[in-house]
Amino acid sequence: MAYNKPIPTPTPLTQPFWDGTREGKLMLPRCTNCNRVHWYPRHLCPFCHSDKIEWIEGSGEGRLHTFAVQHRAFGGWAEEAPFVTAYIDLNEGDRMLTVLRGVDPTKPESIKIGCKVKVEFEEANDELSIPFFRVVEEGA
Ligand SMILES: [Zn+2]
Repeated sequence: MAYNKPIPTPTPLTQPFWDGTREGKLMLPRCTNCNRVHWYPRHLCPFCHSDKIEWIEGSGEGRLHTFAVQHRAFGGWAEEAPFVTAYIDLNEGDRMLTVLRGVDPTKPESIKIGCKVKVEFEEANDELSIPFFRVVEEGA
């Protein structure tokens, strides 16, 4: 089935991230001045304001910080509703907003804050793959 959800437009700032997703890697920006990973990509480190930013390959692993069940959506997302959006605390640091799959959105009480999650990718077109996360281990 053709991918029918909105597709991001890479910019010079975000291109390294999208190059990574196409290869099945979750690339993350890290400041070489304070060594902290931040998400989303920025020209200046949000922690120390340095412009010395490098890209590292993240583990793609983290823990569920919080989530919400989306019952209404537009376009291709409407076909997936209800679905779960989530903030993931990345193992490398900072927090990523994403879609969480492999959970039952009709039973939100079964989704455990703190559970281990791992990134996966779905191909949107020949140039872009979109990351999402899946629960790999129940419980906090
Ligand atoms: Zn910094």
